[in-house]
Amino acid sequence: MSNFVWCHGPSCHKSHTQDRIRGVKGSKVLRTKKIKQVNTEHVNFYNYFCSQGCYNDFAHKYVREVIAIAPRTEALETPINVTKEQATGWSGHTYMETKITTVDNNGG
Ligand SMILES: [Zn+2]
Repeated sequence: MSNFVWCHGPSCHKSHTQDRIRGVKGSKVLRTKKIKQVNTEHVNFYNYFCSQGCYNDFAHKYVREVIAIAPRTEALETPINVTKEQATGWSGHTYMETKITTVDNNGG
């Protein structure tokens, strides 16, 4: 028994590629691509979409539903330290470089 899912791209079956053609002469169709499920331990979007284009089509069509899964109602912040350090460029000239380092509030 084969383990596969159909591509979730809403327009996958409209792409004019030879590997989507199915059926016999006179009643041919373009069919949604099958995606073989090989690595189900490390699932990513390629388990559900045949291409970046199909993923983008899905994301654009269902963006409101996707955002509703984890809505961002306020800005997130990362504590940092900002320092200026003198650095040397490729031609030997010196300049001031802004360094940003993350402050670890949990580990001490
Ligand atoms: Zn697809």
